[in-house]
Amino acid sequence: MTTQPDDALLNDYEQAFAELFNAPVYELTQTEKEALLLPLLLRLHTLHVERSDHYRRLFHHFSTATSLTEFPFLAVRLFKQFALKSVADDDVFRVLQSSGTTAQVPARVFLDKATSARQSKALVKIMQQFIGKQRLPMLIIDSPAIMKKGAFSARAAGIQGMAFFGRQPVYALNDDMSLNVEAVTAFARQHQQGPVLLFGFTFMVWLHFVKALQQAEVSVSLPQGVLIHSGGWKKLTDQQVDNATFKRALQQTCGLTRVHNFYGMAEQVGSVFVECEAGHLHAPQLADVVIRDPYTLAPLPQGQTGLIQVLSAIPSSYPGHSILTEDKGRVLGTDDCPCGRKGRYFEVHGRLPKTEVRGCSDTGVTP
Ligand SMILES: [Zn+2]
Repeated sequence: MTTQPDDALLNDYEQAFAELFNAPVYELTQTEKEALLLPLLLRLHTLHVERSDHYRRLFHHFSTATSLTEFPFLAVRLFKQFALKSVADDDVFRVLQSSGTTAQVPARVFLDKATSARQSKALVKIMQQFIGKQRLPMLIIDSPAIMKKGAFSARAAGIQGMAFFGRQPVYALNDDMSLNVEAVTAFARQHQQGPVLLFGFTFMVWLHFVKALQQAEVSVSLPQGVLIHSGGWKKLTDQQVDNATFKRALQQTCGLTRVHNFYGMAEQVGSVFVECEAGHLHAPQLADVVIRDPYTLAPLPQGQTGLIQVLSAIPSSYPGHSILTEDKGRVLGTDDCPCGRKGRYFEVHGRLPKTEVRGCSDTGVTP
């Protein structure tokens, strides 16, 4: 790689990242965390102003912030409209695409090797808090076909990221998304005495695993299993399935008591917000959330529902360190969750209806 004149900027950021990364994931108080995260985000801001034309056009006027709420953000849909990139084309190591439907343009996220490595490291450190350090036998609640498709989808990336925590992976579904009953029962028979990891996307766990087990009148026993799942609840709330129903059904069909949802997005892989034993999503040391009024975009106080802005210390190859999502949610508390984890904790209420999105988050890039 050629040495660029502004490598000092990147080095400064890398140092700040290492310091924050080495801090405990959930032990910093909000004040302690912000004291490390804010200067790091400001370094990332300077870096992206220098290296991304789109980002510079939007935010060149912004110089500093004294709190996370003052930090500028990009509307998430801009990742569909523009190639937001802060590295040379030659340094792009992978382009991650969000799994949009055919009617939608997928978001593109440009990763260089360093950003990709930070994503993996962060995911490992966060997930180990819930799974432990050992690689566990893993049941992937998806079909093996998903890993074979041409473009690297966010779903495949999610599975690949989580596969690091597993060994001897078994796919629970057939290529046609039907339940592979033989594979699942064999997995359960083999591992019922020990800890195992299950991973899948929320609606697939419900529709193709829990419901399919119920319909087949099959129950398996995985009392030491931990299920990690992610993805929106929309398809489940449409079927009147809430988190409590979801967890109860998993206990009934599989004996699973440790079930953790996580909130994250393709635009910020690695900085995930995992649900604790009390059912709250926690911000890790490397990331945070700010809730904003959907119309004025002003920051909202704890308890009020608005749009979720996600901040992450990870991305240097694309300007994705501060993103205004189209998800609604609210902060539930700070430093005082009954589970003992410090920092901010929150809940997600789902996606903003499309018509509302158009009226708000009017942060546009002039092409
Ligand atoms: Zn908690």
